Amino acid sequence: YSPVLDVDSLNVQYETEESPVKAVRDVSLRIGEGETVGVAGESGSGKSTLALAVMQYLGKNGTITSGEVVFAGQSLMDRSAEELRHLRGNRIAHVPQDPKTSLNPSITVGEQISETVRIHRDVSKREAREQTYEVLRRVNLPDPEFNAQKYPHELSGGMQQRALLAIALVCEPELLILDEPTTGLDVTTQAKILDLIEDLKRSLDTSVLLITHNLGVIAEIADRVCIMYAGEIMERGPIASVFREPSNPYTQGLLAALPDEHADRKLKPVDGQIPSLTEIPDGCIFADRCEFAEEDCRTGSISERPVDDDADHLTRCRRWEHARSNPLQADDE
Ligand code: ATP
Ligand code: MG
Repeated sequence: YSPVLDVDSLNVQYETEESPVKAVRDVSLRIGEGETVGVAGESGSGKSTLALAVMQYLGKNGTITSGEVVFAGQSLMDRSAEELRHLRGNRIAHVPQDPKTSLNPSITVGEQISETVRIHRDVSKREAREQTYEVLRRVNLPDPEFNAQKYPHELSGGMQQRALLAIALVCEPELLILDEPTTGLDVTTQAKILDLIEDLKRSLDTSVLLITHNLGVIAEIADRVCIMYAGEIMERGPIASVFREPSNPYTQGLLAALPDEHADRKLKPVDGQIPSLTEIPDGCIFADRCEFAEEDCRTGSISERPVDDDADHLTRCRRWEHARSNPLQADDE
């Protein structure tokens, strides 16, 4: 098993006017060939930071302070700007969180795709144009020849998302990073984009890192999931293991808060807010919001440990066995 992406004990920090923000701490994850790994967690948990760190594309004030990112067997940590430019958009593609800022408003969609091809492939303008139409067909953009001439603002949100996927896929990347690909779209369009991602995954065998705060989306298309909270992965493993046997109070809380069409009762979300990421307290980062927390949860550092001796299913909780035998109950109201 040689993973396409192997992130090991990654720590990312943002310098600010005040204390540094420790946005990602001790994050490890692997994505195999053709595999989709979902990263879920509430706002501010470090999902986008993780994606940017993998791309080596953190803003000026962001740095990887320790850990490693290995892509296709090679470390991305000591690559030159030139080498990274060659990888990005070509072998690793990233569809960032905000589609509006990632499409250039003054260039037609078709030209943006052709340009990506011409940066990475030695092809004529005509060949680039043909590849553009082909990828636009692949993402089911209606009437590609016609819509390729349009500027981003002339397209609907769903079509913009398809255009972004087209830019990402035109060089057939080995790794596709999607940051909230369905957020901001209406429910029907969301479902269509998800279907499209599934089809593309199957036909191109691309590995996908799928970031979303929507566990339903992950349940639908990911093979494995990482649950992030305040910069750390609280639980990770195959979808079936994590969703059927959630073994971290935070995961349990998230699942309990999922709207359930079969239960017409109030569901219990996790109360409270993400703590400040400038001073990281000892012990478990979730302790303040956890109803199972005991004294020993606030000491030392808490490493990931296997659940039921399954090396593939890990939880960052000292009391996971206790938490699992006392699952959070939906309020009976
Ligand atoms: P969302 O679901 O809202 O997209 P997220 O999980 O993607 O959230 P990040 O955007 O990675 O979270 O942010 C993680 C933490 O890092 C937050 O506390 C955020 O305020 C902080 N942060 C992000 N970018 C910067 C930056 N450039 N400078 C300083 N702090 C930052
Ligand atoms: Mg984000």
